[in-house]
Amino acid sequence: MLNLVLFGPPGAGKGTQSQKLIDKYNLVHLSTGDILRSEIANQTALGLEAKKLMDQGHLVPDEVVIGMISSKLDNNKDAAGFIFDGFPRTTAQAEALDNLLKEKGTVVNMMVALDVDDEELTKRLLLRGKDSGRADDQDESIIRNRIEVYNKNTAPLKDYYSAQSKFYSIDGIGSIDEIFSRVCDTIDNNR
Ligand code: AMP
Repeated sequence: MLNLVLFGPPGAGKGTQSQKLIDKYNLVHLSTGDILRSEIANQTALGLEAKKLMDQGHLVPDEVVIGMISSKLDNNKDAAGFIFDGFPRTTAQAEALDNLLKEKGTVVNMMVALDVDDEELTKRLLLRGKDSGRADDQDESIIRNRIEVYNKNTAPLKDYYSAQSKFYSIDGIGSIDEIFSRVCDTIDNNR
């Protein structure tokens, strides 16, 4: 199996790269942000609760996203591997993911981080907000809050995966295809 954690701040291009990676490596894409947005669209109780936090740029509680990932893993027993996009975002989530994969006799193979500076991220997110209508992409102070949450809660995961020699960082600035080829080289040279 190939289990890949795609890492990077909001707007780094994780979703775009995931779409290309699932085709090339035949992986199942698990984006907690996408799953939460579909819960909101379906107006489930979970979605309505999560929306309040997401609209402000806060994280949804660990137990909620861990439960979502656990059921997706159970529903995709025959997968050749997974791309985790936007998960884990805290150390508790990373530990839970290790445990869930261990129960299935597998592991996270690597974390690939897309490195993009804060100014470029804000620019990209405001642009995406215009196209997608996402509330959390339209307000500069909420965007700054999400980047701050990332730097405080999520960036430390770099150390978590570095300690297991599984952390790889690549330059996330360039064309989609240039970045894709950097990600693929990293995967192919280290899997
Ligand atoms: P994303 O699409 O990954 O940028 O996620 C959008 C929003 O969903 C985030 O700002 C959080 O409010 C929430 N979210 C997504 N994934 C997680 C996660 N792993 N842990 C906590 N909150 C999350």
